[in-house]
Amino acid sequence: MFQRILVANRGEIALRIIRACKELGVESVAVYSQADREAPYLAMADRAICIGKAASSDSYLNIPRIIAAAEVADVQAIHPGYGFLSENPQFAEICRSCNFEFIGPSHEAIRKMGLKTEAKAVATAAKVPTVPGSDGPIASDAQAITLAKQMGYPVLIKAAAGGGGKGMRVCREESTLIASLQAARNEAEAAFKNSSVYLEKYIDRPRHVEVQMLADSHGHALHLFDRDCSLQRRHQKLVEEATAPSIPEKIRRQLGDAAVRLAKASGYVNAGTCEFLIDQDNKFYFIEVNARIQVEHPVTEMVTGIDLIQQQIRIAAGEKLSFTQDEVIPRGHSFEVRINSEDPDHDFRPSAGKITALKLPGGPGVRWDSHVQVGYTIPPNYDSMIGKLIVYAANRQAAASTMRRALDELQIEGVKTTIPLHRRIFRHKDFLDGKVDTTWVERVLMPVKNA
Ligand code: ADP
Repeated sequence: MFQRILVANRGEIALRIIRACKELGVESVAVYSQADREAPYLAMADRAICIGKAASSDSYLNIPRIIAAAEVADVQAIHPGYGFLSENPQFAEICRSCNFEFIGPSHEAIRKMGLKTEAKAVATAAKVPTVPGSDGPIASDAQAITLAKQMGYPVLIKAAAGGGGKGMRVCREESTLIASLQAARNEAEAAFKNSSVYLEKYIDRPRHVEVQMLADSHGHALHLFDRDCSLQRRHQKLVEEATAPSIPEKIRRQLGDAAVRLAKASGYVNAGTCEFLIDQDNKFYFIEVNARIQVEHPVTEMVTGIDLIQQQIRIAAGEKLSFTQDEVIPRGHSFEVRINSEDPDHDFRPSAGKITALKLPGGPGVRWDSHVQVGYTIPPNYDSMIGKLIVYAANRQAAASTMRRALDELQIEGVKTTIPLHRRIFRHKDFLDGKVDTTWVERVLMPVKNA
């Protein structure tokens, strides 16, 4: 096992990794930007090193500074968390060439899975169904027109290098296809420095179901069952749960098998997620692999009892998985809500500022993963997620009731948050009945005006 790990991230995931290190008896070294210098979790690491100014490009995205901090602190491994450099193959490669183990998959696997068009090709080869569409990037407008006609409208234009819901556009008719393609290319170039786009059939009101996988460096790969993340706004997840409700057991097994096949086909090592869309006939289609730990990993931890961050560290240290597929048995039900400092009444605009009061929920089945405390000032420079409220109970209905109670206990003052939105969701019949899809928030809960 490693003696010391550098945590190349910030906020709740940095704290989550520091906690996992403590439980493993590994020292942790935090890095921080000047905007995060007052962050309370820094004191929980064994050491904290300032790596630059507030802008991510000067700190959390700055590879030379992170490597310099790793050298100074004399660590053996680097955990990238999620976001920032977590899926940057160049970073993974540089870490390893500087003799720091990168806690994540190989740079080759990240490269292969990072481009969605390539990941789909791996899926097809592994006999995992994918959304019908162009087999690779769109080469010409004429090709797009022909393909879209064959698939039938609406179609979805997606960025090959896309992520975070960016660079995606629905096109409902041929007359707007060329303009939409151009707009998507521009958006993709600006966001990912890669203008390559591809076409997919737009699945009508799908559910988003993903499978957590783990693979060690000794050739063992297994899955930790599924999560439903259909509650989304602008393709960004709001609520997640494990296991996915209302999918037949046969489909659940097929999804798990598909994820393991994909892990094996891509030579994947460490934790990863295979994302699928499920249509109204319970047919599933692979959409992408997330080659990192995800925000919603706790719901899987709650139902399987397996600590995913510890597993990531153990795998990176060369350990074998200590359990088999048959020993992974999901029990009970878990929900997670993302608490963002955003104003749901004003188009979710970010609400940075100081937290003046904070009352945390407790009691049976409640977990709070967050780096914020009273008096903490949320910097305007980064993501607006300030915490994750996770609950666990014997079944979905009981877990929903625990979540309602916990959300009512949770009070954050000083900034606007998404708590009121979550209180509404956990009182809505459609959601409680498991009858939601990825369009439900914008279609039913808060219809977009002038759409
Ligand atoms: P990103 O990497 O930007 O998050 P994904 O490919 O994971 O993009 O898709 C994000 C979300 O967009 C999905 O969960 C789903 O809600 C929607 N989506 C993606 N592909 C399709 C599709 N072919 N049809 C309908 N919705 C889709």
